[in-house]
Amino acid sequence: MRIRMLQAFQGDAILVTFTDDDGNKKNIFIDSGTPKAYFQSVKPELDGLVAASENVDLWIVTHTDDDHIGGILAWFNGSEGYATHPNLVRHFWINTTGYANRVNQKQSTKVSARQGVDLEKFLLNTNIPWDKELIAPTTHEICGAEFTLLSPSQERLTAFQEHAKTKKAVSSKLSRGQRTNRPLLELMAEPYDPSKQDKSPFNGASIAFLFEAEGKKVLFLGDAWASTVADSLTALGYHSGNPLEVDCVKLAHHGSQRNVSPDLLSLLKCRQFLISTMGSGHPDKETLALIMNHAPADKDVTFTFNYDNSDLRSILTQEDLAQHAIQTRFPARGNHYIDAELE
Ligand SMILES: [Zn+2]
Repeated sequence: MRIRMLQAFQGDAILVTFTDDDGNKKNIFIDSGTPKAYFQSVKPELDGLVAASENVDLWIVTHTDDDHIGGILAWFNGSEGYATHPNLVRHFWINTTGYANRVNQKQSTKVSARQGVDLEKFLLNTNIPWDKELIAPTTHEICGAEFTLLSPSQERLTAFQEHAKTKKAVSSKLSRGQRTNRPLLELMAEPYDPSKQDKSPFNGASIAFLFEAEGKKVLFLGDAWASTVADSLTALGYHSGNPLEVDCVKLAHHGSQRNVSPDLLSLLKCRQFLISTMGSGHPDKETLALIMNHAPADKDVTFTFNYDNSDLRSILTQEDLAQHAIQTRFPARGNHYIDAELE
């Protein structure tokens, strides 16, 4: 299985390629970055699939923030996108803003979660199958893989739809707090402050899931709330004495400390973490400290970044790296992605 984390500016655009039980190659896209990311990173991958006569077997749009949905809107809008290759994408997952339901029921279509509505309008005019009520914790078999949804809960999806309907709902702005330069060891000793948790209704409705294929398990957490994911894992029977062991975790919300918690980390056993962001605020060093507090003692923890720049390289100092069993991975020069190969 190959997880290709494309450079998507502040956002996410991930292409997962694996082989199903019948030996067929499958491609799943998770999100699509900002509109700018479409031309730089996403379109070249789609062009490659077209050239190889492959498909996007499933495109999952975790939520409607611009840094996740922008690229797919560019694909629908662009001349060489959907218009040229209407059969490229076989299936969509995007939770509805409620817009499509209101159209069907001939009710008011006033809704202001703009990007989500724009995508729903496109999808309503295509024959591409579209799952639009994806609620945790449920399990879905598709493309020869198993998906266990961990977010959103029904409560969080309803809250988002109400927010989209009644307010001037605009995408949540990225939190860009000042990054700390305190040593990792000091941050690890810091008491956890639960008041910092994410409260965005957009992120609260983000799809997060456990993905299982080729005998591997990966968590893709979108921008989901840590509390929702932890509640789902608990409902599935995981606890600190019986954590879910996974090969890899795509950290929620670009590594923001607002989307991780000791509660959630106590339910997981993992030593490879993917962080999708160009930096400038994300990820928080506090997130890495929380992870190291819950890391398996016997092995290194690997943080894989999809950009290489001085901002991201400066998060962990030489002293931090010398004091802890941490590996970091950055893309090769000239590549607009980094691959995590799970073998
Ligand atoms: Zn995001």
